[in-house]
Amino acid sequence: MSDYRIETKCIQSGYEPDNGEPRVLPIYQSTTFRYTSSEQMGRLFDLEESGYFYTRLQNPTNDAVAAKICDLEGGVAAMLTSSGQAANFYAIMNIAQAGDHIVCASALYGGTYNLYAHTIKKMGVEATFVDPDCTEEELEAAFRDNTKAVFGESIANPALVVLDFEKFAKAAHAHGVPFIVDNTFATPINCRPFEWGADIVTHSTTKYMDGHAACVGGAIVDSGNFDWEANAGKFPGLTTPDETYHGIVYTQKFGKGAYITKATAQLMRDLGSIQAPQNAFLLNIGLETLHLRMPRHCENALKVAEYLKNHEKVAWVSYPSLPGDKYYDLAQKYMPNGTCGVLTFGLKGGRDAAVEMMDKLKMVAIVTHVADARSCVLHPASHTHRQMNEQELLEAGVQPDLIRFSVGIENVEDIIADVAQALE
Ligand SMILES: *Cc1c(COP(=O)(O)O)cnc(C)c1O
Repeated sequence: MSDYRIETKCIQSGYEPDNGEPRVLPIYQSTTFRYTSSEQMGRLFDLEESGYFYTRLQNPTNDAVAAKICDLEGGVAAMLTSSGQAANFYAIMNIAQAGDHIVCASALYGGTYNLYAHTIKKMGVEATFVDPDCTEEELEAAFRDNTKAVFGESIANPALVVLDFEKFAKAAHAHGVPFIVDNTFATPINCRPFEWGADIVTHSTTKYMDGHAACVGGAIVDSGNFDWEANAGKFPGLTTPDETYHGIVYTQKFGKGAYITKATAQLMRDLGSIQAPQNAFLLNIGLETLHLRMPRHCENALKVAEYLKNHEKVAWVSYPSLPGDKYYDLAQKYMPNGTCGVLTFGLKGGRDAAVEMMDKLKMVAIVTHVADARSCVLHPASHTHRQMNEQELLEAGVQPDLIRFSVGIENVEDIIADVAQALE
């Protein structure tokens, strides 16, 4: 990790050219890499030596961008994945297998909820969902002997619940399991979960990190803080020999790099959710301005939230940086410089009024996306969360009338003017 400040890391981390090399990170648009000795290639396959041999496992463009994200989060190792879904899938399946269990905060992105509630269940891994605002006792009651991880989103999409990191970290560590945080919405500009006890961080880089809605992507970062050896019985995949690599033991051979090396060497090898180097290149350009964009997203969102709060047709507004919000205090504690550009609100006319108002917007578009430069809206109950019944919607923190508003970085007066005419 470099000592630079976060703004400098956004620009400089991950890639440092040697004399005469390209100043800008090149796209290594190559599936494969040449070696002069067959024996050396063999050592790469045995993980005896590190080096590139096939892009499904590793690619220099991807590695440079992963190293930048790693540095931004303050971690020790990181990898890119093809999507945020792949990142959250790998983050769990790297340490859990059929017969295991995880504990999750229930306020989650709809895709992550489906993944953990249904898809990994079919693979034998069961999830217990807890109210993120639960008491320590309620959280405690969710654990089982076979629990392998605790998961939550730093700012839940779209419930905008700010996770009480310290409460969840304490419970996870008391049970000898890592605390995994999806930090997509806050980004490392506004919050670094490792500073509050998280062990692993995941991202949908599709959102603010790329920032321009150009590429789907994900990332996993390891803090290096979790002691797998001290909880060896729970994590045999990391602490006992891997026969597919001649019996190497990840924790012994790779130390703090064990978790990410295993995820690359096993999951990426077998499941293949690699990010295209071309997309990693574009993501890297997005990362260079992340520190400029996030404050503007937050500033604009706060102004829109204040406007909506004072509008007679608006029933409620939720934005964690808005004084009086249910999560204002947690947001001030964990992300005092700002939360994100996403807010939610409901109209007095309910679900039907929401749909009608959205159709009247001119500049602010209805899109299945969030957290990019352009302002957009979505009605989760009709779109991202449409698979859920009313009960599941409420557990995920999604009221049926909820409009998710992703405030972009246009001039805020233009954003508010568009909302004003739609509300008319
Ligand atoms: C979008 C999103 C995901 C899924 O990411 P994709 O890149 O769309 O696969 C996961 N978590 C959060 C918080 C998200 O907003």
